[in-house]
Amino acid sequence: MSAFHTLDSAVLKDKRVLVRVDLNVPMENGKVSDATRIDRILPTLREITAKGGKAILLAHFGRPKNGPDAANSLKPVAAALSEHLGRPVAFASDCVGEPAQTAISHMVDGDVLLLENTRFHKGEEKNDPALVAQMAALGDVYVNDAFSAAHRAHASTEGLAKKLPAYAGRTMQAEIEALSKALENPARPLGAVVGGAKVSSKLELLGNLTKKVDFLIIGGGMANTFLAAQGKKVGKSLCEHDMLDTAREILKNAAANKCQIVLPTDAVVATEFKAHAPSHVVSVDHVGDAEMILDAGPRSVAEVEAVLGVLKTLVWNGPFGAFELEPFDAATNAVAKVAARLTGEGKLLSVAGGGDTVSALNHAGVADKFTYVSTAGGAFLEWLEGKVLPGVEALRA
Ligand code: AMP
Repeated sequence: MSAFHTLDSAVLKDKRVLVRVDLNVPMENGKVSDATRIDRILPTLREITAKGGKAILLAHFGRPKNGPDAANSLKPVAAALSEHLGRPVAFASDCVGEPAQTAISHMVDGDVLLLENTRFHKGEEKNDPALVAQMAALGDVYVNDAFSAAHRAHASTEGLAKKLPAYAGRTMQAEIEALSKALENPARPLGAVVGGAKVSSKLELLGNLTKKVDFLIIGGGMANTFLAAQGKKVGKSLCEHDMLDTAREILKNAAANKCQIVLPTDAVVATEFKAHAPSHVVSVDHVGDAEMILDAGPRSVAEVEAVLGVLKTLVWNGPFGAFELEPFDAATNAVAKVAARLTGEGKLLSVAGGGDTVSALNHAGVADKFTYVSTAGGAFLEWLEGKVLPGVEALRA
């Protein structure tokens, strides 16, 4: 982490601190329905205000296409943030120009102000220097606490970091530290669980991981494609038959890189894709023509658990089965619980994130028992793919 400036070295007293945060929270009937992202930025905001800085928050919300629209306004989020922070949060109707300037001129040290959706300006996603200059004029210091937006080189995530003294916020810092420990500098053996629906959506991720990990545990629908690539019949299972050569290529690269692939050896199969569909366990060599694989079987779970037992570091993305449909959540739950137990016993550093993984771990009741669970989605996946994240790079000292 020495390569990044953190709040440890930031002088914040009397400063206008532009803080890029992730407030792209889910809403239902005008109210925030999941405050996880709000809670994650509280340590940074509390530290800035406690140190006497004026916290001026920049964030995007949704995907507005043509300038300002009420449906994508951050205004309702200001109220929710205020509730969680336990202090007033003012709101300005534009993230630059007169509304922002006026609101900032009324701030005293320790105040918090949320500026309207940065994406109401087309220049945000274009990283337009003119918008960057307008934003930069509002602050003395820049803090980025939005790892989840760091895979985009936008005005508020990248451009601004180059214009003002730039620091990683505490959530950004925690995320970079956890991810570095897991993949850049891991204690070995290092393993990855990659599950979920499709090989095609995780090609780059699988390609990067085969170069880095000692064990690659493949689960979920994508395992079916690998099984089919090995000549097995997968019946009516979710399977990308046009990806069989690609799957074989991945297996070949893994072997060349001494990365051991772990595939299911048995499966829970059903003839309908629905909760509580009648199901039974078969070897992956005996999947019937009318059957579909909806979860890994108990022998596969035991084999994965044995691998987990030798690992020192685990990265996890994607479920082992159709975990939203009981009882096809069993393998995901079982393996998640073992990873959580090993983490609790101090034997495993476990980092998970991306897509449905957070809800799968919540469903298994163990999300808070992993070393780190990233809520970053796309940025987490791009990091697993080995890509450079512009918002993180811009913070390097
Ligand atoms: P992803 O977004 O790629 O991580 O995929 C997650 C989705 O994959 C979840 O909605 C799961 O229900 C689905 N999934 C996992 N295993 C299977 C399977 N064997 N058959 C069908 N869908 C699956």
